[in-house]
Amino acid sequence: MIAPGSTIGIIGGGQLGRMLGIAAAQLGYKCHIFDPHAAPCAADVAAEFTRADYGDHDALQRFAAAVDVATYEFENLPVEPLQLLGDKLCPGTRSLAIAQDRAEEKSFIEGTGARVAPWRKVSSPGDLRVAVDALGLPLVLKTRRYGYDGKGQAWLRSASDADSAWQAIGQEPAIAEAGIDFFAEFSVIVARWADGTTRFWDSAENEHRGGILRTSTVPCSAAVAVQVAEAREAALGIAGALGHVGVLTVEFFASADGPIVNEIAPRVHNSGHWTIEGAVTSQFEQHIRAICGLPPGLTGLTRGGAVMENLIGTDIERWPEFAAERGAHLHLYGKGEARPGRKMGHVTRVVR
Ligand code: ADP
Ligand code: MG
Repeated sequence: MIAPGSTIGIIGGGQLGRMLGIAAAQLGYKCHIFDPHAAPCAADVAAEFTRADYGDHDALQRFAAAVDVATYEFENLPVEPLQLLGDKLCPGTRSLAIAQDRAEEKSFIEGTGARVAPWRKVSSPGDLRVAVDALGLPLVLKTRRYGYDGKGQAWLRSASDADSAWQAIGQEPAIAEAGIDFFAEFSVIVARWADGTTRFWDSAENEHRGGILRTSTVPCSAAVAVQVAEAREAALGIAGALGHVGVLTVEFFASADGPIVNEIAPRVHNSGHWTIEGAVTSQFEQHIRAICGLPPGLTGLTRGGAVMENLIGTDIERWPEFAAERGAHLHLYGKGEARPGRKMGHVTRVVR
């Protein structure tokens, strides 16, 4: 067990690291943020901050010596340098390596027996034409690496879109995925301990706009609720096969044929922010408990449910309105500039 008073290293200093840091502080831990930027928002709430590139071996070596356990809040990290953290890193590099490459991720998920959208690897315009023939239209082309919030993706509605889509994603190694005719999206968030103990939260129904999460709602609709048991089985299979320690998120499409895995994140997730006020133990606290080997906290609802709304880009200008709204839990990430598409904060309303 990593006892309170110990230091938790967090690689990545964005809002997820910030909320992990707040939860860790509540349990008496100190956090040490590792991030290449000058003033990452997680560093504002942490005891220590190392500014260095994610591939800087010397800096990582010093970081490894300074922390009792380490975790990451961001999956676009080079895997090889992190290996020097050894067993201190939770989840380990296997979860990271698989989640950061969409082709590895899809093959791995299929290997656990869970369903994914029909897909093909694409490394050239020729491969893309083959994929269109095999998968049909519409389909979505996604870069294997570095995609988030819908970035690195282009849709093909007709075969003649192939060249422009290939250009649009920067001609990078990619996958093509059949467009799924889903009626809803939802996520399963599971926390897993080294001894195999697991805990779930209620599944949130997630609404995306332009590839970015806008809202997460708990409880989900009845039509989604009947798919949650099967989705949880899939998530357990994935978490177990990864040997994952910490929180793991699995995003699903709810289709007429049942749940289809969209993607996994080896970490706390935007669709779990509602758990801060809506659940007895938040995803952030539970992640800290899991990686430190503390007992699991209860994950049930505090009230009837919750609705989380993201504040993206200039949405943040409305903060005075949310600050004045009775019962609205306003979270501001303390980021500087409100660039379009940038996640600046969120508001959670607990359902009475
Ligand atoms: P990101 O890493 O950017 O979150 P996702 O693969 O989750 O990438 O895609 C973002 C969103 O785009 C999804 O939540 C969904 O709304 C839509 N989307 C992605 N893939 C598909 C698909 N195969 N069929 C239909 N919609 C999709
Ligand atoms: Mg996603």
